[in-house]
Amino acid sequence: MIILPIIILHNARYVVTCDSHDTVLENASLVIQGSIIIDLGPAQEVKQRYPKARVIDLTDQLIMPGLVNLHTHLPMTLLRGVAENVDLQGFLELVWAEEARIMDAEGTYIGARLGALESLLAGTTTALDMYLHPAENHRGAVEVGLRHVTGPVFFSFPGPDNLTWNERMELAREWPQTLSEIGGPYVPLTLMPHAPLTVSPENLGEIAALARDQEAIITVHAAENIAENEDTVKAHGERPIQLLNATGILDLKPVLAHGVHLNESERHLIAAKGGCVAHCPGSNMKLASGAADIVQYRKDGITVGLGSDGTSSSNDLDLFAVMRIAANLARLVRNDPAAISALEIVRAATIEGARALGMSERIGSLEVGKEADIISINLREPHLIPIRDPFTTIVYSAGRADVRHVFVAGEQVIDDRRPTKVDPQEIMTSALNHVGHVS
Ligand SMILES: [Zn+2]
Repeated sequence: MIILPIIILHNARYVVTCDSHDTVLENASLVIQGSIIIDLGPAQEVKQRYPKARVIDLTDQLIMPGLVNLHTHLPMTLLRGVAENVDLQGFLELVWAEEARIMDAEGTYIGARLGALESLLAGTTTALDMYLHPAENHRGAVEVGLRHVTGPVFFSFPGPDNLTWNERMELAREWPQTLSEIGGPYVPLTLMPHAPLTVSPENLGEIAALARDQEAIITVHAAENIAENEDTVKAHGERPIQLLNATGILDLKPVLAHGVHLNESERHLIAAKGGCVAHCPGSNMKLASGAADIVQYRKDGITVGLGSDGTSSSNDLDLFAVMRIAANLARLVRNDPAAISALEIVRAATIEGARALGMSERIGSLEVGKEADIISINLREPHLIPIRDPFTTIVYSAGRADVRHVFVAGEQVIDDRRPTKVDPQEIMTSALNHVGHVS
């Protein structure tokens, strides 16, 4: 019998569990064996139970579940800054032109590595990532150590990857095999229709049927700005959510990226079907798309997670920034400083994101039996002193540079801010070389 190595994350100042009671332990330790959390409790007691374990001292650090980025386009790190001061429609025009130039399979792989590295260093351990060339994208992200949820992307026109509809469907049918060959931490099968505007109703129906066959999850852009809603009505006669409902997509509890402009009946329909919203307030504010009223969505019963979107619209993949923007925007929109708590925002960035992916039994909280997706935050910094409430500190004071250690499925992928699986200099150099700019 093989006995898996045991690691003790010893004597954390706070363990923010995000369990169903929002338990926070002080001066506590967490034990990992293989990929699984096997113990959690008072520091000295726990340490005595595992005399031979490797010990990582976390005095003056906080541990919490790794952040879940519920909507992003990681390889678009290579497109950072290409579309400034434009709305969604202007953005798509500029981005698609640059994609045609540099985002071939190799560019996707290089961009995925850069995006995964940026994510992990910022405390994101899981990303729902929609992009072209899914095999190269997935391989790149997994090599860096990310739990990378991706799958085939669909347009009803050739798109920057120049695939026909039949080729897309073929790629999707082969995706389970491709995914298992690439390996990496467990992720669900995922299908990614781009948007109800860019995928015809007939094709959306085909994707829904395939998702049922494969037991895949679905993510799709929806209702990002008012013009998108209007253009969808012009093109297909119905608003995005109506189309997703009519084509069977909504029955599959999709992760709706953005979901900014949802009327009351749409919200009730999404809630009744179990749909989720990936709230991307940084991107929505920068593109002036609008402000999703997530307090209302949550009241309506919609699961809300947080996303950064791609770096061509929000310019970075920093979920600490997204948490703070989401908290402040919700209060501003509701004209109420108590509209949403820091605790609710931390839950949106962790367990609620995991729930949206159908993974809340596996990740999203620190509990015995769950996979060890864990980040530590160094608290010995002037801007983090003193702490009256750890959730408030995480949302309103901490930043990505405070993330020190990162574990994904029990593997330490960031050790004291250094990646363990890849050479960061090589990743940055290859990205610069591919884009063709000299730094
Ligand atoms: Zn997007």
